[in-house]
Amino acid sequence: MRVLVMGGSGFLGSHLCDVLIARGDEVVCVDNLCTGNEANIAHLRGSPRFRFVPADVTDHFDFTEPLDAVADLACPASPPDYQRLPLETLAAGSHGTENGLRVARRHGARFVLASTSEVYGDPEIHPQTEDYWGHVNPIGPRSMYDEGKRYAEAVASTYRRTLGADVGIVRIFNTYGPRMRPDDGRVVSTFITQALSGTPLTVHGDGSQTRSFCYVDDLVAGLVAMLDAAEPGPVNLGNPNERTVAELAQLVLDVTGSASPIRYAPLPVDDPVRRRPVVDRARDRLGWTPRVPLDDGLRRTADWFRTRIPVPVAPRS
Ligand code: NAD
Ligand code: UDP
Repeated sequence: MRVLVMGGSGFLGSHLCDVLIARGDEVVCVDNLCTGNEANIAHLRGSPRFRFVPADVTDHFDFTEPLDAVADLACPASPPDYQRLPLETLAAGSHGTENGLRVARRHGARFVLASTSEVYGDPEIHPQTEDYWGHVNPIGPRSMYDEGKRYAEAVASTYRRTLGADVGIVRIFNTYGPRMRPDDGRVVSTFITQALSGTPLTVHGDGSQTRSFCYVDDLVAGLVAMLDAAEPGPVNLGNPNERTVAELAQLVLDVTGSASPIRYAPLPVDDPVRRRPVVDRARDRLGWTPRVPLDDGLRRTADWFRTRIPVPVAPRS
């Protein structure tokens, strides 16, 4: 296959490029590097089956070579990133996704949208199945991301319903692993960076809010399964192993052996109280289940961060 990966220099996108190249596909990676990093794809640059195109997907773009699939991951994804780039985030969910759909349709290619558990907002239904419509504040400080993705789902569904486009939607729950930016502000990268540098772990609120954390290799296997399927979705992709943020902090201290204290900080506005995917649909329709346990995934992630963070671990006494 020849696959266009929009946002391919980011955390998830670069791992997707790796898996596609490893199985023999050709990959065109389009990215404007607004939150991504060229280092994530540096090792692929020598491959004749990999091409990097520095471009903003919200601008008009097209390719002369044939395409079999388009994966749309081009969007700032961490709360500090999308709040720093609010209009760009809305543009990615609207113009960016529309451009990807247009290109996919012109090439007769399958289009897979990387949507998010954030379409469920602060959910009133727990755990979340795909038929839940969500509870999103349309004018709140997370709305540029949540509503951008809801629009992206709407336009992708409209292409499928009215134009017969081959479109699939995955809703990704919190995913972590190597290549997250240490300063991206997401909880796993932040806690690991703090633990490894011996600074306090900043737990928001009382730490009782929950998330369900999926290791990147599992998540990318689900993305590839969706690219290869004819499934329209939406399909939840995530690890249903739900933890409080306070439990996560303790686990990070345990796997890193850090003596960092915990410091409590204010809970951000509209921070969802709980989040856990039902992944039966992914199992039944894609044959996908997450496999990597949280402590194992955190250990692998911390090992990678250790090679990036020069400050020594503060040992436990
Ligand atoms: P990321 O910020 O590392 O990756 C996003 C990539 O898209 C970056 O390389 C960025 O430079 C690029 N990009 C953004 N806007 C662009 C534009 N206009 N033109 C070209 N490139 C652009 O984030 P990630 O965690 O890898 O997320 C990838 C996708 O998966 C996003 O769409 C995100 O919404 C979705 N997602 C991720 C998670 C998660 O936990 N990681 C959860 C839910 C959904
Ligand atoms: N969080 C935290 N400390 C941090 C960063 C995040 O306690 O330094 C919390 C955040 O408020 C939220 C959870 O961890 O309750 C997950 O945050 P993240 O930004 O990783 O993902 P999202 O909120 O988008 O699910």
